[in-house]
Amino acid sequence: MSEITLEKLPYAENALEPVISSRTVSFHYGKHHAGYVSTLNKLIDGTPYAGLRLDEIVRRAAADGASAIFNNAAQAWNHAFYWKSLAPAGAGGEPTGAFAAAVQRDFGSKEALVKALAEAAVKRFGSGWAWLVAEKGRLSVLSTANAETPITRPGVTPLLTLDVWEHAYYLDWQNRRADYADAVLGQLVNWSFASAAYAGSV
Ligand code: MN
Repeated sequence: MSEITLEKLPYAENALEPVISSRTVSFHYGKHHAGYVSTLNKLIDGTPYAGLRLDEIVRRAAADGASAIFNNAAQAWNHAFYWKSLAPAGAGGEPTGAFAAAVQRDFGSKEALVKALAEAAVKRFGSGWAWLVAEKGRLSVLSTANAETPITRPGVTPLLTLDVWEHAYYLDWQNRRADYADAVLGQLVNWSFASAAYAGSV
């Protein structure tokens, strides 16, 4: 049977310190993210979902109202995307090319974009995700609840995400979600990844 695999972390577990500790990454990646993948594989075994790509499972389960499969598949997808949205401090570069121009056009500056993302992260009530997305070339910020993901929205391409479930920050920042968001968005964003994702979306 073809299984969904847990994507490798794009850096060492301690590479995001001190903003995100290796202890957090070890639990977040090794227990939470790995758990979604392993539960998903159990749920889809022997069903028409087996053999589909992860993004296809997310979209089909959303359309089918298959909530357990959707939740685990979407969380597996969102987490893989979250790790890629981050980079060790200094390694993520700056917005480049058409993406840099779109940031200026739609937000005025990178700082204003970061502020909008931080606000979306803080305002999301309960668990969820803050996102930078592109739709027909235009950038916008949104947040989703629980496992919800923009990849179920036709024409919407995610460029960056920030996990705001408590498991993403509680060991390092306790209840201070705003401080976690500011530190991650200020120091660990993989702008090169967002630039490439934007280029692929237009
Ligand atoms: Mn998480």
